[in-house]
Amino acid sequence: MDVQYVIGVDMGGTNTVIGMVDARGNILCRSQVSTTDYSTGAEYAEALGSAINDLIEQNDLKDKIKGIGMGAPNGNMNDGTIEKAANIPWAKTVNVPIAALVTKKTGLPCRLTNDANAAALGEMAYGSAKGLKDFIVITLGTGLGSGIVAGGQLIVGHDGFAGELGHSIMVRQNGRLCGCGRTGCLETYASATGVARTAREFLELYPEKKSVLREIAYPPITSKDVFEAAKAGDELALRIFEFTGKILGAAFCDFITFSSPQAIILFGGLAHAGEFLLEPIRKEMENQILNIYQGKTKILISQLNDAEAAILGASALAWE
Ligand SMILES: [Zn+2]
Repeated sequence: MDVQYVIGVDMGGTNTVIGMVDARGNILCRSQVSTTDYSTGAEYAEALGSAINDLIEQNDLKDKIKGIGMGAPNGNMNDGTIEKAANIPWAKTVNVPIAALVTKKTGLPCRLTNDANAAALGEMAYGSAKGLKDFIVITLGTGLGSGIVAGGQLIVGHDGFAGELGHSIMVRQNGRLCGCGRTGCLETYASATGVARTAREFLELYPEKKSVLREIAYPPITSKDVFEAAKAGDELALRIFEFTGKILGAAFCDFITFSSPQAIILFGGLAHAGEFLLEPIRKEMENQILNIYQGKTKILISQLNDAEAAILGASALAWE
């Protein structure tokens, strides 16, 4: 049997994207199914499995597929189940053994992890973390996800859920309410939604400051609006990124004391803000980091294409 390909599956909140990937990380062809059009996990797995089977058949690659790697919200690597994922209708209140169901339909081994861990594996196989054994990938999207690799191994913990760094509590008094039900979590500040929240707060807090953001009434301000304004030199927008970067930098100082990574790699929509975030992050780290770690950890922006990275990351699981 000549194994040359794997299947990477990225399950998003709306669509699930499937890609056939070769050993060099080229995505040869894609397919997709809806994530939400099903009433049970079994129905979803049936549709996903069929789409994978079709993709293999169309490309005449039967017997050349090593396996399936899948990234999904609340995907548990230890047992291959999606555990109570709030945004997935058929997994809101139940645990769905998705990997086993997909294997049953396709006859291929299937491994599951959460989306941030998949991003970390993608960076290790094809991106900025190539050759690194100790690093952290921070995904800055709607929320803040993280994948921690130490000694070349993804840290998953005894229950498969290690590394929810977005829910580190950064503000102890009057912190923002988080989707997890607690207050002050990192992701309520450092994420696309966090930046938009900061923008709304700052507009009220500094009524005397002129800003193009004041002109935006509806739809509500997004992190992209803040980024565009910062590029145009808008002072309030720059202050918003400074605030966001400062909180991230402080959080990174703590993360570094835990696993001493060679690099922290920023990935996802908000990471495109680049230097607007990196500068205040570095500055805060210089000020706050424990002296033995000073200047040792690089902060990088992912070079992987957003649209491909999720598939590649998930597919990297299938090679292992
Ligand atoms: Zn939280």
